[in-house]
Amino acid sequence: MIVPVRCFTCGSLVADKYASFQQRVKAGEDPKKVLDSLGLKRYCCRRMLITSTDVIDQLTPYNEALWRRHSEFANERV
Ligand SMILES: [Zn+2]
Repeated sequence: MIVPVRCFTCGSLVADKYASFQQRVKAGEDPKKVLDSLGLKRYCCRRMLITSTDVIDQLTPYNEALWRRHSEFANERV
């Protein structure tokens, strides 16, 4: 959902590399080579960037609709 700041397993900082990783992979570079060049050697840290997907923009409309429905529900009670 939101990009993790640190590796869940070893605690190494990975969030600072996420934007660069995404940009370079979208440009067509091999993800393995990008991770190597970013200095991510451990597979626990590599999986953090490979498996993270930023879906906050996709979930925001549902959250807004939920809050709208809550306010409608609160107004019905009065
Ligand atoms: Zn790690």
